Amino acid sequence: MATTLEDLPIRDDLRGQSPYGAPQKHVRVQLNVNENTHPVPQDVAEDIVASIRQALTTVNRYPDREFTELRESLAGYLGHGLGADSIWAANGSNEVIQQLLQAFGGPGRSVLGFPPTYSMHSIIASSTGSRWIAAERDAEFRISPETAVAAVREHQPDLVFLCGPNNPTGTPLDLATIEAVYDATEGIVMVDEAYAEFMPDGQPTALTLLPGRPRLVVSRTMSKAFAFAGARVGYLAADPAVIDALRLVRLPYHLSALTQAAAVAALRHAPEMLRMVDDIRGQRDRMVIELRAMGYQPHETWSNFVLFGGVADPRAAFESLLERDVIVRDLGIPNHLRVSAGTAEETTAFLDAMREVAAEQPPVRVAA
Ligand SMILES: *Cc1c(COP(=O)(O)O)cnc(C)c1O
Repeated sequence: MATTLEDLPIRDDLRGQSPYGAPQKHVRVQLNVNENTHPVPQDVAEDIVASIRQALTTVNRYPDREFTELRESLAGYLGHGLGADSIWAANGSNEVIQQLLQAFGGPGRSVLGFPPTYSMHSIIASSTGSRWIAAERDAEFRISPETAVAAVREHQPDLVFLCGPNNPTGTPLDLATIEAVYDATEGIVMVDEAYAEFMPDGQPTALTLLPGRPRLVVSRTMSKAFAFAGARVGYLAADPAVIDALRLVRLPYHLSALTQAAAVAALRHAPEMLRMVDDIRGQRDRMVIELRAMGYQPHETWSNFVLFGGVADPRAAFESLLERDVIVRDLGIPNHLRVSAGTAEETTAFLDAMREVAAEQPPVRVAA
């Protein structure tokens, strides 16, 4: 008889759980996990390969545990007067967040977030033994300083997670909300800025709030704007004392020499790597306009995806799109689907398929 999880002496809190992850299907138009739909430019790819080849010549040795060159490159990319001692990186920002919770969360501690938001925040909270507390948002998925502060005062969390622009809604996050939350808590305030590069040009990010706020942490990723999802590189900026805390929980040599080499090479070409951001924002705006014209209700978005309401039956619409070789995301938000901005062709394919779905199940009017 086959062994199942239930037969194993697994931790009680993991019993009955299933692994998290969007379906990975081979579909022509993949717009379900907010990837950058544009590949790394060929000349950049060649430079990355050259750097990896060089790193392979010393791969018999452990990598630089402090990934100093990568931290210097990331500090240079972020600007804002940040030095390498304010930067930390790991295998995707998911791992960065996990390390942050290993250091500042854990059994007996609580983490406050504002759903609908990035699912991994609550999942990592749980898997590190922290208690997850869900607070409410305002209308249109916004979080005013008053709403945020009321939740912080009520729950007194050890950590607060904010996400701006927010996934899965695309909603902007006001700096005033971050400042108010920081002043209302003695805990860590983590702002997930995975989509920062897709914000309108010139918008200030939470990085501008770092000076004088040693409990503020801003996380970023190379997965989205940098078209580097498969390489697994995420990072954060914070006071150097926060970085010291993360050193206590990281595994030694957690970032491979190959990852470090690839990321440093990619960062040398930051402008070219980010060249597609404008194009992606253009396709995103096109989705908003055309979905609205079809009778759907797209929400304001500062990211590389669109959450839209008015879908009569999201499950059936998801399946209909899949039959047309287009995959989007059904997040269980009633009457909503989320779609990532594609290339011009992918966006056209999605919009054409969506018109056919609208003919099958006419858009409905839903309260925001
Ligand atoms: C996609 C995403 C990430 C990225 O995670 P990586 O592990 O860096 O790939 C982080 N936060 C949010 C809100 C995201 O949507």
